[in-house]
Amino acid sequence: MHYLSKDDPALARLVGQEEQRIEETINLIAAENHCPRSILEVMGSVLNCKTIEGYPGHRFHAGCKYVDEVEQLAIERGKRLFNAEYVNVQPHSGTSANLAVYFSVLKTGDRILAMSLPHGGHLSHGHQASITSTCFNFAHYSVDPQSHQIDYDQVRQMAHQFNPKMIVAGASSYPRLIDYAQMAAIAGEVSAFLLVDMAHIAGLVAARAIPSPVPYSDFVTFTTYKTMMGGRGGVILAREEYKKKLNKAIFPGSQGTSAVNLIAAKALIFKLATQPEYAVLQHKTIAHARLLAEQLTEKGYRLITGGTDNHQVVVDLAAKSISGSKAETALEQAGIVLNRNVIPRDAETPGQVSGIRIGTAAVAARGMGESEVSVIANLIDQVLSAPDNMPLLEEVKKTVKSMCSRFPVYTAGSSPVP
Ligand SMILES: *Cc1c(COP(=O)(O)O)cnc(C)c1O
Repeated sequence: MHYLSKDDPALARLVGQEEQRIEETINLIAAENHCPRSILEVMGSVLNCKTIEGYPGHRFHAGCKYVDEVEQLAIERGKRLFNAEYVNVQPHSGTSANLAVYFSVLKTGDRILAMSLPHGGHLSHGHQASITSTCFNFAHYSVDPQSHQIDYDQVRQMAHQFNPKMIVAGASSYPRLIDYAQMAAIAGEVSAFLLVDMAHIAGLVAARAIPSPVPYSDFVTFTTYKTMMGGRGGVILAREEYKKKLNKAIFPGSQGTSAVNLIAAKALIFKLATQPEYAVLQHKTIAHARLLAEQLTEKGYRLITGGTDNHQVVVDLAAKSISGSKAETALEQAGIVLNRNVIPRDAETPGQVSGIRIGTAAVAARGMGESEVSVIANLIDQVLSAPDNMPLLEEVKKTVKSMCSRFPVYTAGSSPVP
């Protein structure tokens, strides 16, 4: 931060404080990760300054010799990593990627069937607060009230009744695997396109730690900053036949210039993701989530779906009579950072948030192992059992800080994924 410190000391101080916060707290936010230093480097490089419109070989500004190679590299590596026929690395975010997919093959007002938000779905899957619901006519499936798992019979029944042009599978808050073959079969029965939004789990898929939706779907979208650990941005994978429509839907359809520095970060993570260390890390992330789920269950917590198959554990706090919001605040005071989350039963009471969502990608990335995960489960339980006990929260915070100091993220030459 040499130049920043000179130009804007106040801003440089904030960056430094954020760095310190990262080092000294336990990050359990399922939608975040620590990323390799090389990702930060390429994101802060001169690539940031190049204006690009269009696609490699067909640009609207001169000087694209090298950035064309960067984007081509990202595309080729993405195709190989995910075994996809088509890759678009220009979406600014997961939401942009989803919007482009909708607009590529649908007309405004067309019907889309997706997972409801309180049951695990995402805002960009037609939530009423999202522009996606203004443009398209969404219906939403829910999870089974007992198992909290997707009820494929219900999805099938709704698909036959609603007759959607597209079905969306994929979630922000769903700790189980999705049966893509079932979803594809249902989409086939009603001649709907299948979009799988694998934003949260892309890193797990890239590492082959869980099944890939690519062979089953027309479109796959994801974000690169969650389990994928490749900096901010979105990606679209698809069958070759949709290439022209998707290219147009991103540029000029819904985006102008894209960010070459972020495209470069995508190219880089697609390379790093082929290395054995990356696979080890993604498997460890899942093992940590399983362990955390077991330990919280032993301590009397009720988990949505009763466990996990991915990087997430979603906790229903009813048994502990504490709200999601209060849990989030108390845990943050103790140095444990996660987010409150709606859970299926909140669907009946809008505004109510009765759960928390825990993700294990970032703690795995900074090298924490099983014994640390056990400590984390204990600390979470201590805090949630006495959220108003300030001396206790201070005590936990000290334990957290000391444990974190043994697992530096960006200091002392360390970097997640060597
Ligand atoms: C995080 C997420 C997104 C989107 O992300 P933004 O990058 O914030 O637009 C989209 N879909 C799902 C399922 C997500 O979890």
